[in-house]
Amino acid sequence: MFNKRIVCRYCFKGNAIKKHGTAPSGYQRYLCGHCKRTFQGEYIYNAYKSPEELEKKKEYLNKERLSLLKSLSNIDKPGMVN
Ligand SMILES: [Zn+2]
Repeated sequence: MFNKRIVCRYCFKGNAIKKHGTAPSGYQRYLCGHCKRTFQGEYIYNAYKSPEELEKKKEYLNKERLSLLKSLSNIDKPGMVN
């Protein structure tokens, strides 16, 4: 369902990425064929999550929490329900 997509952290293109050995830290390094720069895969993994995406997730979690609170308030004695 979720594919880790590698895109260049400098020019954000993903169709010319080549593996470029491994960094001392153990991360896979990549070379971008467009801007000829190298970067670590782990950085990209975090970078390509757009703010919009994170915002959507936050919204979704909030809605879920609200509906959970609503269903809890319908119970007369919540008791140990956490
Ligand atoms: Zn690039």
